[in-house]
Formats: sequence, structure tokens, C-alpha cells
Amino acid sequence: MDGQSAGVSRRRSLSALLRRVHLGGPVSRAGLAEWLGVNRSTVLALTTDLVAAGLVREGFPELTGRAGRPSLVVRPATDRAYVLAFDIAVDRLVAARVGLGGEIQDRREAHRARAGVDLDTVVRVLADFGRDLHRTATPGAVCVGLGASYCGMIRPGDGMVRFGPDLGWVDQAFGAELGRRLDLGLPVLVGNEAHLGALAEHQRGVGVGVRNLVYLHGDVGVGGGIIVGGELLGGDGGYGSEVGHMLVNPYDGRPCGCGSRGCLEAEVGERALLDAAGRPADLIGRDAVREVVEAADRGEPAARDALRTVGDWLGIGVANVINLFNPGMVIFGGVLREVYRGAATHVQERIAANVLPVSRTRAQLRVCALGDDATLVGAAELGFARLLADPLGVRVG
Ligand SMILES: [Zn+2]
Repeated sequence: MDGQSAGVSRRRSLSALLRRVHLGGPVSRAGLAEWLGVNRSTVLALTTDLVAAGLVREGFPELTGRAGRPSLVVRPATDRAYVLAFDIAVDRLVAARVGLGGEIQDRREAHRARAGVDLDTVVRVLADFGRDLHRTATPGAVCVGLGASYCGMIRPGDGMVRFGPDLGWVDQAFGAELGRRLDLGLPVLVGNEAHLGALAEHQRGVGVGVRNLVYLHGDVGVGGGIIVGGELLGGDGGYGSEVGHMLVNPYDGRPCGCGSRGCLEAEVGERALLDAAGRPADLIGRDAVREVVEAADRGEPAARDALRTVGDWLGIGVANVINLFNPGMVIFGGVLREVYRGAATHVQERIAANVLPVSRTRAQLRVCALGDDATLVGAAELGFARLLADPLGVRVG
């Protein structure tokens, strides 16, 4: 092996080791050697480099009662490296400081109005939160990345919001502007919320170990994140996986925020459920959806009918997705968690009727494990991506 390929190989090994410790938590050197498929002296050399870089610590494990010399345990140095993660969701703005290893150390949150909020307002609130979280970090800790989740279509290279139907944003330089206001010398990496929710559930949630999965994120609309062979399906421009605009009811469907009619999100989004249940037009948000699901549990006929209607449309959408991608798991996130809990029977009936049997038996249906933080956790992982790809290329301490 020449010097250059040896360097690449070492960087890959360091990356794989740090990723394992970051996502999986403390692990013994022996466990790492087995996981990486290398011998113990190679693991020793790699962990020594990462200890010197301030990214991991080694220590003896808790007493196990077993005889013999225990293998040293490698842990992420959670207090040395962190990212700032931001979540621009439909009803709230969230910022968090997330330590290496994934622990949310501190957070700030503000309610946001659904309409009429401009770029300047969103960026000002988030930048104030971010600077505050940076200032109150452990002395000596280093911010290694900035990641943000946005409920719209994002140009991957520069965090430009190409289309944010909810806020009415078109071509707004969100990532660049937030980076400028934070002034930390780091770019803000921005991702679509459903893409990031899919990654988060795949890396830290209910989808760990599932190489092919579909994550559906519902709020006002419905976003999709599709993981194929362990990788997010971005499409040609990074705008793929828009499951919410799959056409399911073209003839007498409800109008959709995209300008079309009868898209999946128009039939199963928050408004569709609340309208079907006869709730007033000014009632919005996850609490309102939860109320409908609870009312259905108590037997209220309008709420039960609404969940049957919405559950049937959701089942049609999910059946199409299963037939197309043959996923091992379909995960319901955002407000679809509540909807699926209330309408699981109807979704499953549709899948039983419309999915090809060979695919049907493989697809588990689950609600997301990370709850309302799925998209925030995904944004944090986006922030960690550069460090994890090249652990010694990012200066820490
Ligand atoms: Zn649409």
C-alpha cells in the first residue's frame, strides 16, 4: 500500500471507529476490533490517535465480576466536542447544543406563528439561541458543526430554501444567513426535515439496523425520507422522497399546498383530519390532532369516521411506497405518530388489500422512537458529519 492509500485507509478506520462510539456509545477495545475486523494493536493505534485528538476517552469498564484483565472501554468525549442543531418546524423554532455521542446538553425553544414569518425573524431568533448555547458550553469545548432541519425543499450545497410552502418562502438563503449571523466560522448544513428524521431514526431510533426504510413525517403537510441500502435517497437534485405529493385522489381530492389536488398530504395532513372530524377551521397543531385521536378512542362517531377516512388514504400512500421500495420498515413521525396510533387498523387493511404479498410480509409498521426530537437529532447528525468523516481533520481543543 502506498502512503496516500494508507492515509485514506487510516482516515476511514478512524471515521468508522468514531462513528461507532458516537452512535453506539461506550464499547470495549475488543468489541471495536471485532466490529472493525482488525486486530487489537490496530485498534490501540486508532484509539490512541482519537484520545490525543480529544474525541474519545478510555477507561476501565464497570466491574463485571468476571476474572481476568478487562478490555478498556472507549467512550465519546461528550464534553469536548459539540454541534449546534436547529429545527424550523411548523409550530416551533428549536436550537440545541448536542455533545459528541448525541446527548442533547441544552436547548432553547420558541413558538412560531404558522404564516407571515420572514427569513430575518427566523434567523434572528435562532442565531440568538445559538450564540447563547455556544457561550454557555463547557469551557474548552469546541463547536465542530452546525446543522439545521427545515420543513421545505432545500438545495443541499448551500442550505437555500427553494420552496417552503408552509412559510411561503421561495429561494431564501437560510443556511448562509444563519451562518453569517452565528459568526462561528462554520457553514450551516441544512436538510429537509423528513430526510433528517429518516436519518435520525435509522441511526438512533426505531430503524437502527434496518437498511431499507421509509420515514413519513406529518404536520401541516407530509414529508418523506427514504433510506435505500443504508443511504438516503436524495434524487438528482436532493429533492427526492416527496411522498407527500404522491397523487392518490386526482378527481375529487382536496387542494394541496403545492398547487395540485389530491396529493397524499392533502388527504392525510393535519387539516384533512380536523376537517373530517368537523373541528373548527381555527383549530390547528398536534394537540388538536391528539384530541381527535382521543375522542375516537372514547367512541366519538365523527372522530372515528375521520380516522377511518384519513387512515384509508394513508394506507393507500403507504401501500404504494411499499410496492415501490420493498422497505423493511415504514416509520410514522411528527403528527402521523398520533394519526397512525388512531388509524392503524385502517392503514393495515389497505396494505393487506393492495400490497404485493412478497413485499407485505417484510414491511414492519412503526411509530418513530425519537418523538418530536427526530428532526432535531437529524440536524445534529448533519452537523457532526464533517467530524465523523475525517476525525483528525477537525481541530478539537
Ligand atoms: Zn401536493
